[in-house]
Amino acid sequence: MEKSTELRKFKRGWWRELMHRSDWLIFGIIGAVLVAFIPEVGLLLSGVLVVIVLWKVFGFRDTLVEGNCPACTKALNIDPKQDVIACPICGSCMKVGDQSLTLVDLH
Ligand SMILES: [Zn+2]
Repeated sequence: MEKSTELRKFKRGWWRELMHRSDWLIFGIIGAVLVAFIPEVGLLLSGVLVVIVLWKVFGFRDTLVEGNCPACTKALNIDPKQDVIACPICGSCMKVGDQSLTLVDLH
């Protein structure tokens, strides 16, 4: 029998959103300064990084996807770009669909 659970879409609360953006700002600027020291391509990479950081800091709020492991029901953060993920708690493999997580039976 196929075991699956529904995926939920949500946005971060404003406080976590603020923390997330300040992380991007701080680590992004540190990263941009570090790559600027790379000979020849450094300034270019640094410029690209600054654009990404500004986008992350001042852009739209991300929509996050969360679902429960079909095997152990642990809540997991899902990257919708991945096809198959493994549960860090029980090690079960599951397929990431548009709206659901489906347990993959490896046996
Ligand atoms: Zn699990």
